[in-house]
Amino acid sequence: MSSVFKNVKVQMQNALRFCKIHPNTQKVLATPQNRILFSFPVQLSKGMDVLQGYRVQHNNWLGPYKGGLRFHPDVNLDEVDALASWMTYKCALQDLPFGGAKGGLAIDPSKYNKEDMDAIVRQFTRGLYDHVGSNKDIPAPDVGTNGNMMNKMMDEYNVIHRGTGHVKSVFTGKSVECGGSHVREEATGRGVALCVEQWAFDQNIDLEGKTFVLQGFGNVGKYAAKVLEEKGMKMIGMADHSVCLYNPQGFSVMELFEYMRSNSSLKEYGQGTALKSKDELFDLECDVVIPAALEMQISEENAKTMKCKVIVEGANGPVSPEADEIFAQRNIQVVPDILANSGGVLVSYYEWVQNKHEEVWSEQDVREKLDYKMGDAYRKINELSKNRNCTMREAAFVYSLEKLDNVYRKRNV
Ligand code: NAD
Repeated sequence: MSSVFKNVKVQMQNALRFCKIHPNTQKVLATPQNRILFSFPVQLSKGMDVLQGYRVQHNNWLGPYKGGLRFHPDVNLDEVDALASWMTYKCALQDLPFGGAKGGLAIDPSKYNKEDMDAIVRQFTRGLYDHVGSNKDIPAPDVGTNGNMMNKMMDEYNVIHRGTGHVKSVFTGKSVECGGSHVREEATGRGVALCVEQWAFDQNIDLEGKTFVLQGFGNVGKYAAKVLEEKGMKMIGMADHSVCLYNPQGFSVMELFEYMRSNSSLKEYGQGTALKSKDELFDLECDVVIPAALEMQISEENAKTMKCKVIVEGANGPVSPEADEIFAQRNIQVVPDILANSGGVLVSYYEWVQNKHEEVWSEQDVREKLDYKMGDAYRKINELSKNRNCTMREAAFVYSLEKLDNVYRKRNV
């Protein structure tokens, strides 16, 4: 079976050709600090079940562990190791005072009714309780989880916690009413779209009328598509877990937003032509491809035939290391996940700061901060890639590795 964690290690090794990192830093980063596996019983409408929860805490040199919780049938330890490691590099890249973590459950949320899902969320929080905390490890939403679940996790945490006041800053990605930040819901997708804009600016390309293809119309994908449509781009291909669709005239993103309010997939959407596979989707003639679903979606085979000018990774780890090499040879730029989808953790950080200081920042204030930091991060990594003559992924890892290495050296050398 292919290993996603191995891909992270390959990405790290590739970057090491362009920087000088202390061997001990390399050794520490190669293995997560804590791998927490816990099973817990939960009373469901069909009887009692025992579920297996995961939390991997990769590294906390820069601050408390930070990373999402994924509810998806394919969740496994290898995947969580990889996702936790990417969080360490992502937080370092954005100069945040956070380390990296990830967790989840191997379940399909669509198979449970609301009452059962609530019971799972609360029991899962009980299992996590000892391992998370406002200055220790701060989870957030990821695939299959959402703001509503974060509200319940925060509530359950406080039911157990008792005594020292209501703690909001232990989970981010909450609804605004429950102490969440304005702009958090749209932050990751907006950040992805801002990377497309920065790329176009760098290449002297006008986005008006340009085309994009999107895989995954969830939290990340739909907000990226919305912002790109506002910038005049056309979404000519899109997919979710149920279907891949093509429409050379372009889909209406706002109409899709409405459709997804009352539907759980695109299967019955009924517009555009159905494609046979994701390979056909990625192969479409277009300017930008945005994979915003899961890891390992774009293989070496896809890379040989894809026709876009740039790939902006909304998802974590969607492009394999072999595909990366081919894109580099073919001069197709890849804006890497740890940069492109870092808008989410950025606004999670703003949420954490607001919670800690009992502040509420305005929507405009948060959006301006997000836009500025995403543009700044894109430019610094793009410049570094030019200076070191490496890909943007290598440059992103170089930046983060050097930052982490500085901490190691200052403490130990
Ligand atoms: P989500 O659950 O809101 O949406 C996931 C989307 O992917 C859905 O449209 C689903 O139908 C689709 N999908 C699932 N399996 C698929 C498959 N096999 N083929 C095609 N489509 C499939 O999740 P999300 O929060 O949008 O996360 C998407 C990606 O972005 C993940 O890799 C996640 O780790 C990453 N990410 C999310 C955030 C965040 O703030 N939510 C932040 C950074 C990175």
